[in-house]
Amino acid sequence: MATSDRKHWKHLYEEIVATEICCGCSACLVACPHKVLEFQDFDPVQIDPRSPFDNCIHGEEGCSLCAMACLRLHPSLDLIEGVVHGKRRDPEQPEGTHIYKTLARATDPRVLERGQDGGVVTALLAWGLDGGELDGAVVAAPSDGVPWLDEPKLVQTSEDLLKTAGSRYTYCATPLALKKAVAAKCKNVALVGVSCESTAVRQLAAEGIKRWTRPVKLVIGLMCCETFDYEAFMIGKVQQEKQIPLTDITKVNVKGKVIVSLKDGSEVDIPLKDARPYANEWCHHCPDFAAEHADLSCGGLGMEGWTMVLVRSEVGRDYLERAVAAGVVETRDAGEEPGALEVMDRLARKQRARIDPFDPHASATWPTEQLLQAARAEASESGS
Ligand SMILES: Cc1cc2nc3c(=O)[nH]c(=O)nc-3n(C[C@H](O)[C@H](O)[C@H](O)COP(=O)(O)OP(=O)(O)OC[C@H]3O[C@@H](n4cnc5c(N)ncnc54)[C@H](O)[C@@H]3O)c2cc1C
Ligand code: SF4
Ligand code: SF4
Ligand code: SF4
Repeated sequence: MATSDRKHWKHLYEEIVATEICCGCSACLVACPHKVLEFQDFDPVQIDPRSPFDNCIHGEEGCSLCAMACLRLHPSLDLIEGVVHGKRRDPEQPEGTHIYKTLARATDPRVLERGQDGGVVTALLAWGLDGGELDGAVVAAPSDGVPWLDEPKLVQTSEDLLKTAGSRYTYCATPLALKKAVAAKCKNVALVGVSCESTAVRQLAAEGIKRWTRPVKLVIGLMCCETFDYEAFMIGKVQQEKQIPLTDITKVNVKGKVIVSLKDGSEVDIPLKDARPYANEWCHHCPDFAAEHADLSCGGLGMEGWTMVLVRSEVGRDYLERAVAAGVVETRDAGEEPGALEVMDRLARKQRARIDPFDPHASATWPTEQLLQAARAEASESGS
């Protein structure tokens, strides 16, 4: 094999995949021009028969797109935050830069009923699709054959979108459906994803891998502390240990505990301390609770029937305010729910502390070089 100086699959594998920092966001699969990456159990694997699993013949010859696409291997946070917010995050804002916060909910009772919290994500996207402003939404959709497992999907009508409302707490790599959006020749797409996915799409764009991100006109992020392993949690804990057939479940929610709602109207509670051991390992390396690189970030924060929305960019502000003016979403002052704001601040601070100052994505927690160097010095001293 020839050798290249640029980081590529070899380094991505060694530094991010083998270390279990990889969150399975799919950006490397989307970016790979030779289609030699695929998912196995949420991990990217290299399948080219001419390369060993931990190296890539194309990488050795100069290709580095997978490494550039990765939000965990040297993320381009200066560039990303410059584009989305016009500046890097203020260290005193663990929830990330935003213009304002508001509480919101859908006005359509069908959407409100199906939505996880206030149905805001579905209402906003449905409005865009119905009015022609969007020609696609890249979302997580319940799989046809496997209950409570989602698949990345492109939807193009509000009826199809409604079927995707609500949260499933297992991982679904929504950026992967950008390939479907491009194949369908979409020009104006919204992408929905948990924090890491909303950063992943920005990382692709920041690194100039624009073929897949050019149609993305709106990024809606979902606040996220963790996702659960499907086999271990949904099958092992919920179906086998709790004896709940997955097809009987109407909703899963996390509000200080995991609340499993059933078709007969009953609820089964699982304490968070019993659920946490089933969290995906990669979430322990995730610094971003509040989807800081989205245009609009949404979370339930323990509330019932309302979504907290952080308006982060001018794109997000314009879209939301036009949807409010059109009457598809109603809002009230975020200050009316001080408990929810306190939850967000606490969770965001806690999540920033998850990463080590020597992690390759440490600048997400320590946004200035000075803070990062100080954190590294402190960690070195306490380790010696
Ligand atoms: C895995 C996960 C963890 C979350 N953790 C928290 C949390 O700790 N605290 C908090 O306040 N909020 C959390 N949220 C956000 C919250 O559950 C709601 O998604 C958010 O408040 C928006 O509610 P809504 O009613 O406006 O959205 P809806 O109108 O119900 O729309 C929900 C959207 O979420 C998408 N979606 C569903 N499941 C997934 C998934 N697994 N991956 C990617 N996209 C998905 C769907 O495509 C849909 O477009 C989490 C969401 C997810 C998916
Ligand atoms: S180096 Fe290039 S060809 Fe090889 S896995 Fe990465 S993106 Fe794909
Ligand atoms: S781009 Fe995403 S899926 Fe690929 S290695 Fe990085 S974190 Fe994992
Ligand atoms: S906690 Fe972070 S890494 Fe884990 S699924 Fe949520 S956003 Fe992704």
